[in-house]
Amino acid sequence: MKINPSKVEATLSCPLKAMLDKSAPTSAMYLGSLLHLAVEAVSKGVTVPEAQSEIRRVFGDLSDDPEWRKRTEEETWLTALEDWQRWIGTKKDIGTEVPVDVAINDDIVIVGRIDRLIEDADGAVQIVDIKTGKTAPPAKEVEEHAQLATYQLALSKGKLIERGDGLAVDNGEGIEQSGAYLVFPRKSHNKTIITSREQSKLTEDKLAGWERRVEQVAHATSGPRALALAGDHCKFCTLSKACPAAEGNR
Ligand code: SF4
Repeated sequence: MKINPSKVEATLSCPLKAMLDKSAPTSAMYLGSLLHLAVEAVSKGVTVPEAQSEIRRVFGDLSDDPEWRKRTEEETWLTALEDWQRWIGTKKDIGTEVPVDVAINDDIVIVGRIDRLIEDADGAVQIVDIKTGKTAPPAKEVEEHAQLATYQLALSKGKLIERGDGLAVDNGEGIEQSGAYLVFPRKSHNKTIITSREQSKLTEDKLAGWERRVEQVAHATSGPRALALAGDHCKFCTLSKACPAAEGNR
């Protein structure tokens, strides 16, 4: 069974919501994808001004901001690309949109794409995930960030291989790694320090714990039934009016 790291947190929170709640993409999601595409294009040789000009060209169609605010918002996305480039320019960048396809046991394969892989001063690999929201979670929460942890788990059972014109993560004996980052190019920051949050390198115990959670996710989404787990998240669930488990949490 294939597990995508980006779905692990939602499935642990409520498997039924993760399976059925397919809300329509929002303007923020489209613009987030646009920034990811721009970042990828720049890594392949497109210049920052060229990528910014493309953002300008489609921004008006994707944004749901009122007309009077569009120009200011557009500037924040253009600046985000510059700030990201400044940040990644200080790192040893070894891979963009790196495909991951790693079996953690006979039944479960972690499949996804890592926004960036970078290398630290000792040659250990670090995972980077670009977040396009304006708020960053507290550092403590990021230590338990499911998407980053699932990628760390995949790297712990993988190896780097050449594929096409870049790197990929395949089954292997484990990659020397030293943690993971969330990077927030759109969150306000001073001119030199972009906002980032680190997840420390997971210990063997923590990796084993995340392996159990990924197994839980596979189990929760493999059968004809899915468990409904009520909680505060029910307030934002489009299924809450029909879901008996949400009583008292609407
Ligand atoms: S209402 Fe709550 S329990 Fe029901 S599916 Fe949504 S999140 Fe899950």
